[in-house]
Amino acid sequence: MPVLVMKFGGTSVADLARIENVARKVLREVDRGFDVIVIVSAMSGKTNELVGWVESTSKLYDAPEYDAVTSSGENVTAGLMALRLQEIGVPARSWQGWQVPINTTSAHGSARFISIPRENIDAKFAEGFKVAVVAGFQGVSAEGRITTLGRGGSDTTAVAFAAAFGAVRCDIYTDVDGVYTTDPRITSKARKLDRIAYEEMLELASLGAKVLQTRSVELAMRYKVRLRVLSSFEDSDDTSGTLVCDEDEIMESKVVSGVAHSRDEAKLTLVRVEDRPGIAAAIFGPLADAGVNVDMIVQNISDLEHPADKRAYTDMTFSCPTNQVLRAQKAMEDARSAGLFAFANLVVDSDVAKISVVGIGMRSHAGVAAKMFSALAAENVNIKVIATSEIKISVLIDRKYMELAVQALHDAFDLDKVG
Ligand code: ADP
Ligand code: ASP
Ligand code: MG
Repeated sequence: MPVLVMKFGGTSVADLARIENVARKVLREVDRGFDVIVIVSAMSGKTNELVGWVESTSKLYDAPEYDAVTSSGENVTAGLMALRLQEIGVPARSWQGWQVPINTTSAHGSARFISIPRENIDAKFAEGFKVAVVAGFQGVSAEGRITTLGRGGSDTTAVAFAAAFGAVRCDIYTDVDGVYTTDPRITSKARKLDRIAYEEMLELASLGAKVLQTRSVELAMRYKVRLRVLSSFEDSDDTSGTLVCDEDEIMESKVVSGVAHSRDEAKLTLVRVEDRPGIAAAIFGPLADAGVNVDMIVQNISDLEHPADKRAYTDMTFSCPTNQVLRAQKAMEDARSAGLFAFANLVVDSDVAKISVVGIGMRSHAGVAAKMFSALAAENVNIKVIATSEIKISVLIDRKYMELAVQALHDAFDLDKVG
């Protein structure tokens, strides 16, 4: 039997009525002759609640226990979905990560897949079960502890199962009907894309477009999984939604394809660190060891030969997610106490957002940066940090201008227009 993977996000399984709604979508695919692997998220808001409970109990929490608690939301929806499918006559069985088993690394909170053996689920299909309902977002480490894959990780579970079972397609059902030129909640001018290249989707996801978890796009690209994003609230057929596919399957060619934003950014500046060989390694080593995901880095111009001691000093600015600021501060204070380096002050700005424009056309077109900066200037938005790569330009700005900046860039690059 051909296998189809269907993933339902939190809003799609938010209550029993919605679980019934998506169970009927699964039934339709079973009736079309598929063995279906359903991946479910926790009910919407559940994982946030569980994370909140962990953080209220322990500020710098133990990661294995964070995973023990936060993985539980998916167990509930997997069981409920299997029950609902049975009620409408579909032989279905639920699977928690350890039962498959979904083998992952021991990096709690951001574990990666090692292997997904097919035997157990295949054996159930062979017995006549038509659907395997798998709890997303979780796995099991070699030590036998439950792990989680990072927020939004059920998308990655879905793609990994599609690769492991050679699925004809991996359908990601969510609360929007596809991938848009920007988050449709920010501007009504956002336009749904019929297709988007893996590379562009990868950049958009990693720059904050949470419609797909970054790692899921990476896996889809590596294993050539046909990945589709569509709405669980609308009727759909094989052409609905947005297909994430190879660049050469795409007709539309724009220099910039989308605008992404990330709200939860913080900018930290170490003021007056000595400017000497090895200083960057001394700063970013301890940050990495503390699990801080440093994103942008700027080393400011050096103050050569300070009159007081004739040494050179500089300021070092970097950005990281807001929920890692405490860890970053502690890592820097500890490094200072251990004598790795000195600094005058650590200035934290937790009110910034990152806005990015993305497009594979940027490889062969000049002037995108200039256009982006003038559009922001026209709105009087100050740019704090800039970073570029081959197919994206990102800026950090004050968070209060985030929506305005996204709208201005969407207009400047004519993203509401086709072609
Ligand atoms: P789920 O719970 O189904 O996993 P998510 O909330 O993780 O859903 O992702 C869907 C949301 O992603 C949408 O509601 C939308 O606000 C947001 N989003 C951000 N950028 C985009 C984009 N470019 N296209 C579509 N949705 C986007
Ligand atoms: N429930 C998890 C989260 O909210 C995983 C997911 O929904 O993809 O992050
Ligand atoms: Mg999601």
